[in-house]
Amino acid sequence: MNKEELRAKALAYHKDGKPGKITVNASKPCETAEDLALAYTPGVAQPCLEIREKPETVWEYTSRGNLVAVVSDGTAVLGLGNIGPEAGLPVMEGKAVLFKRFADIDSVPICLGRVFNEKGRSDAAKIIETVERLEPTFGGINLEDIGAPACFEIEQTLKKRMNIPVFHDDQHGTAIISLAAIINALKVTGKKIEECRFVVNGAGAAGISCSRFYITAGAKRENFILCDSKGVIRKGRTDLTPEKAEFAVETEARTLADAIKGADIFLGFSAPNCVTAEMVKTMAPGPVIFAMANPVPEIFPDVALAAGAAVVGTGRSDFPNQINNVLGFPGIFRGALDVRAKDINEAMKLAASQALAELAAEPVPAGVKKVLAEAYPADAAAGMFDSKGGVNVNCVIPKPFDPRVVPRVARRVAEAAMKSGVAQLDIGDLDAYEKSVAE
Ligand code: NAP
Ligand code: MG
Repeated sequence: MNKEELRAKALAYHKDGKPGKITVNASKPCETAEDLALAYTPGVAQPCLEIREKPETVWEYTSRGNLVAVVSDGTAVLGLGNIGPEAGLPVMEGKAVLFKRFADIDSVPICLGRVFNEKGRSDAAKIIETVERLEPTFGGINLEDIGAPACFEIEQTLKKRMNIPVFHDDQHGTAIISLAAIINALKVTGKKIEECRFVVNGAGAAGISCSRFYITAGAKRENFILCDSKGVIRKGRTDLTPEKAEFAVETEARTLADAIKGADIFLGFSAPNCVTAEMVKTMAPGPVIFAMANPVPEIFPDVALAAGAAVVGTGRSDFPNQINNVLGFPGIFRGALDVRAKDINEAMKLAASQALAELAAEPVPAGVKKVLAEAYPADAAAGMFDSKGGVNVNCVIPKPFDPRVVPRVARRVAEAAMKSGVAQLDIGDLDAYEKSVAE
C-alpha cells in the first residue's frame, strides 16, 4: 500500500458507517416494560442502596470491574508529537479497540483539554486532579501518550493516591516487552543481564522507564550509559531533568559513537538513522540491537545484521522481533482486573516479561500454528512457527496474534499480584483461569 492509498483507506475506515471505532453495548436485555423497570427506575435503586450499604459491592452490580479509562492529553501521540487532545482521540479509540479485541476489556477514551501550561505542555497538577476524580467509575487507568517529563510525576503521584491500577503504557508497556526480548536475546548470545553493558539512546518516557526496569530485572546501574539529543548523559551536565540525572555517569564518552564501544546491548528510543554499521562493529561480540524509533528505526535490521548484530528488533511489523505494546497491556490489565489489584507493581511487570519470554521459547502447538499461519503467512512459509522449543533468533518475543499471549500474561500478572499482596481477590486454580481467559 502506498502512502496515498493508506491515507484514503485509513480515513474511510474511521469515517464510514458510524463515525469512529467504538460504541457502547448493553449487556443486559432491555426489551420489555419489566426489563425497563429493572434497568432503570425503579429497579436500579436496589443496587444503589446495596452499594451505599456495602461499597465493595460496586464491583458486583456495575461494569466497573472490567472498565478501564484510557487517559491522554494529546501531548506525545504516537510519533506525531504534541498534536492536542482532539487529534489524539483516534489513537485512544484505537487503544479501546485493542483492549476489547485482545482481552475483552471495556474502556473509555478520555482526552483531556485545558490541562496545559502557558507553553502548551502538560500541567501535571491539573491532570492529576482530574484523573484521581475518575476513581469511582473505573477498575484501572491506562495513561497514554502524555509527554515526558510530566508523565513521570503524573503517574507516580496517581499511583500513590489511587486504589486502582494506574499504568502509563508508553513507559511500562515498552519496558516489559523489550525486557522479554532482552531475556531471550541473551539466551541466544549466552550472556547474563547483570554482566551486560547497555547503551540507551533517547532519555524520554521510554528510554528512562526501560532503563529503570532493566535494573529492576537484574541489570547493573553502573553498566548503563544513556544519551539524549545532546549526547551522553554524564555528570557535569547542567541541563539534566531529575530523571536524566538519575543515570548521569562519570565518563570520557561524549557522543553515542563513543558510548557504544564495547556495549553488549543497544536500545534506541530516539530518532531515525542515528546508528551506523561502523558503530555496531565497535560493540562487544554478539551485539544485541533493539532500534525502536518509529516509524524509522535508529538503524535498519539488515544493516545491523550485516555489521555483525546477533539479534535485532524494531517497533515495526515488517521486520522480525517487533516490540509491540499490544503484547503487554491487554493481558496485564486482564490479570490485574481479575484479582481486583490495587496497583500494577514491579513484581507484576516482571511476571509479564517472563511470561512473554517463556512463551516465545515454548513449542508451538498445532492449533496455535494454524492461527499464526493465517495471521502471518510469510512468517509461516519461512518456518517461523515450526518451533519444537528453544529461542529462535527471529522470534525472541511472541507475535501479537498468538492466542496464548493474553491468557499467559494475565495468569502470571494475577499470580504476581496475589503473591505481592496487592490482589483483593484470590484465584485458586491458575491453570483453569488461564484456560478461561483463552476461551
Ligand atoms: P520522548 O519522551 O519524546 O523522548 C525522546 C528522547 O529521544 C529524548 O530524550 C530526546 O532527547 C531523544 N532524542 C531525540 N533525537 C535524538 C538523537 N538524534 N539522538 C539521541 N537522542 C535523541 O519519546 P518516547 O516516548 O520516549 O519515544 C521515543 C521514540 O521511541 C519514538 O520514536 C517512539 O515512537 C519510540 N518508541 C517505540 C516503542 C515501540 O516500538 N514499542 C515504544 C516506545 C517508544 P532530548 O531529551 O534531548 O530532547
Ligand atoms: Mg502510546
